[in-house]
Amino acid sequence: MIDLRSDTVTKPSKEMMQAMFQAEVGDDVYKEDPTVNELERRVAEMFGMEDALFFPTGSMANQAAIKMHTQPGEQLICDKYAHVFNYEGGGASFNSGVSCRLLDGDRGMVTAAQVMEAINPPDFYHSALTTLVCLENTTNKGGGACYDMSTFKEVRKVCDDHNLGLHLDGARLWNALVATGQDPKEYGEIFDTISVCFSKGMGTPLGTVLTGKKEIMKKAMRVRKVLGGGMRQVGYMAAAAIYALDHNIDRLKQDHDRAKELGEVLKTLPYVIKVEEVETNIVIFEVEDELQVMDYCSSNDLIISNMGQGKLRLVTHLDYTHKDHIAVIQLFKNFITKL
Ligand SMILES: *Cc1c(COP(=O)(O)O)cnc(C)c1O
Repeated sequence: MIDLRSDTVTKPSKEMMQAMFQAEVGDDVYKEDPTVNELERRVAEMFGMEDALFFPTGSMANQAAIKMHTQPGEQLICDKYAHVFNYEGGGASFNSGVSCRLLDGDRGMVTAAQVMEAINPPDFYHSALTTLVCLENTTNKGGGACYDMSTFKEVRKVCDDHNLGLHLDGARLWNALVATGQDPKEYGEIFDTISVCFSKGMGTPLGTVLTGKKEIMKKAMRVRKVLGGGMRQVGYMAAAAIYALDHNIDRLKQDHDRAKELGEVLKTLPYVIKVEEVETNIVIFEVEDELQVMDYCSSNDLIISNMGQGKLRLVTHLDYTHKDHIAVIQLFKNFITKL
């Protein structure tokens, strides 16, 4: 079975397991787990941030960030495709009592002008007070698209001018860094908080680090506790993340190359209407009869995601081998003859 539904389906490698077994641990709720502390230090340093905190999931890290930046009744601004709005169970309203102003961006990416236009005037007390902007990089529902640093800088300027917090949902920020060659330290200069996941392209069983400026991060321990995310000897998981930092970042290029190749092949096939631009490890393509293609794939031991409205999604990852890749390409090519 080849599973291309998501890059979350990977299992820890032998070497990663070895690193986990050898981890030195302690009670992280007392901040006494040396491996967690080391991971947090490394991520903060990498992005030029002052502080960092380990979370079990990306959703919890994002939800904590939203809580840290807002008060109930306020409003955040994000793209209509944003994970924080679409895929975190309505958490922004449940956990923080905030509403989301959705922008009609391009593949999940917004512009500074769009953000500016969506800010409610702060002295107009009839509308919700805008206090936070959430951006996503790479975009998930947007098909793995990457922002330019210049757009981030422009959005930062708008946030500064209007006293708004700026959070980055960087679940797949590693992919963006590898694809663009951007300097992670520039991210630390622009964003107040950044979440980075280890359970996607990085291949660990779980874990997300929220890193940010001291002033905002001082609330993070309390908010994580409230959300039920205080964990004890979780250094075993942090060890997997440290292993991933050392071994699994550069190899993301291979995932990107394979995704691009899949995109190129799909473009040439008669049953494919459109392939969205492939920038990282996500391929979104449109077909006339998505159920027929899904059925064909599953009956040939390939699982992929149905995004609805004729769109299908493939995500390449650490456990997707060269042999799998050749087989998948052949599988999609063979489908022509079945029509
Ligand atoms: C996967 C993902 C998350 C976090 O998901 P969890 O399953 O909660 O770890 C957050 N944002 C984006 C864009 C994602 O793709």
